[in-house]
Amino acid sequence: MMMNRFTYCALMILLNSSTTTITAFVPSSLKQQQSSLFVAADATRTAPVLVPPTDGSTDDITTMYDTNVQKTYGRYPLTIKSGKGCKLFTTTSDDYYLDFVSGIATCALGHAHPKLTEAITQQMQKVHHVSNLYYIPEQARLAKWLCDNSCADKAFFCNSGAEANEAAIKCARKHASKKGITKPVIVTAEQSFHGRTLAALTATAQPKYHKGFTYDGEMVPGFVSVPYNDIEKLKEIVAEITNADDGRGLAAIMLEPLQGEGGIVPGKKEYFAEARRLCDEAGALLVLDEVQAGMGRTGMLWGHENLDIEPDIFTSAKALGGGVPIGAMMALGFAATTFQPGDHASTYGGNPLACAAGLTVAKTICEENLLQNVRDRSQQLSSGLKLLSEKYPQLLGEVRGWGLLMGIVVLDGNEYKASAGDVVGECMKEGLLLVPAGANVVRFVPPLIVTEEEINEALTKFEAAIQTTTKA
Ligand code: PLP
Repeated sequence: MMMNRFTYCALMILLNSSTTTITAFVPSSLKQQQSSLFVAADATRTAPVLVPPTDGSTDDITTMYDTNVQKTYGRYPLTIKSGKGCKLFTTTSDDYYLDFVSGIATCALGHAHPKLTEAITQQMQKVHHVSNLYYIPEQARLAKWLCDNSCADKAFFCNSGAEANEAAIKCARKHASKKGITKPVIVTAEQSFHGRTLAALTATAQPKYHKGFTYDGEMVPGFVSVPYNDIEKLKEIVAEITNADDGRGLAAIMLEPLQGEGGIVPGKKEYFAEARRLCDEAGALLVLDEVQAGMGRTGMLWGHENLDIEPDIFTSAKALGGGVPIGAMMALGFAATTFQPGDHASTYGGNPLACAAGLTVAKTICEENLLQNVRDRSQQLSSGLKLLSEKYPQLLGEVRGWGLLMGIVVLDGNEYKASAGDVVGECMKEGLLLVPAGANVVRFVPPLIVTEEEINEALTKFEAAIQTTTKA
C-alpha cells in the first residue's frame, strides 16, 4: 500500500478513529513519527459539541424506540416504570402487573429486592469493575459457592447465557483437539435453545433461528442435532460420528436438562443416563445448559439434579445475578483444566459488581430456604393449573415442568382459534404477565420468592383470561 506522511495525515483527519487499524497499515519508517502526527492531527480539530441525553421528563418512549432502537423484539405495549417483589408498575397506570415472567426466569429475587439493592450499592461504593488481570475477592467467593453447591470444580465467568455456552463449546473443541480430533462434532437436540451468538445459535437446533444467518446454507460447522429425549436417535448419531474415518469425533453432547424455549419439555432420566454413558465411552464431554433451569428454578439448585447424572460442564446465567448480567461456565475434572491462560476471556466476566449480585442471590437462596419455597409454590401452581386444564379441556392441555419452570399447553386447533400468544395477551389485560414457550405453551416463571397469595392471585387472573378466551 502506497502511503506517505501526507496521505497518512489526511486519513487520520478523515477517520479520527480506529487508530489501531490505521497503525497496522503504517510503514515502519513512519511509525516513529506517529505520535507527533497524532498530536498534529488532533490539534487542528476542536472538540465536537455533543447532544446530552434527555432528562426523561417529556420523553415519548415508544416513538424513541421506533426511531432509535433496532426492531429485534416484538414488544407488548407496556412501558415499565418500576418494580417491587413480584409486581411491576407501568408509566400509564397505578395498577400493578403480577410478574410471572421475571425477565424470563432471571429476576430470581424479584424486583428491587432490598438485599440485592444494598449489595450492589455497597459494591459500587467500593469498586465495581477491574480487569481479570487482577484477583477479585467477590469472584473467588462466588466461584467457591458455585463449586461447593454443585459437582463442578471450577468456574469461568462471563456475561450471558450465550456467552457461557460459547465458552462450553470452545472448551469441548479444545478438549477434543487435545485428543487429536480434527473435526470435533457437538450433538445437540432439536427444539433446543442455547443463545444468539453464532455457535450457540448453531447449537440451537431450530431452523427458524438460522434463517438469514448461514454461509452458503451452512451455520458454524461441527454441529448435528437429533430429537430430544430419543435414546435410539442419540445412539445412532453417536455411532455414526465415532465410527467415521474422516477425522470426525464426538466432542460433546450438549443438552438442556429441561427445554425451556422449546416448550417446557423436561428431560427423561433414561435419556440423560444414556447421554452420560455415550460421552464416557467416547471420551467426550456432556455439556448441560442450565441457563434457564439452573439456580434453584426447578426446586433443585441445578436442573440436572432432577436427572440423577453429573455433566462435565454446565452453564448458568439468567438467575445467577438476579438480573445483573453474569454468566458462568462450570466444569469438573479434566474439563476444568482444559482452558489455559489466553485460551478464553471476557472483559466484564466476573467483575466485582456482577459477582456481588451473584453472591447475594446465592446467600438469599440459602438464608431464605428458597428451594423449599420453589417446591411448595410449584405444587400449588401445578395443581391449580391442572384443575383449570380439566375445567377448560377444549382449550387447555398438559401441565408440565419442574419447580417454578412450568407450562400449560394451549391445544392446537382449539375451537376458539386461540394461540398461547393470545392467552398471554388476555392475561396481560387481567394484570398478569406470562410468556409463551415454543409454539403452544404458556410459561409460568415467577420470581423464586413468589408467595402463596401471589400464586393464588395468578391462578385467579389466569382463569379470568381463559374465561374471556373461551367466550370469544
Ligand atoms: N440457554 C438457554 C437454555 C436459554 O433459555 C437462553 C435464553 O433464553 C440462553 C441460553 C441464552 O441466554 P442469553 O440470552 O443470556 O444469552
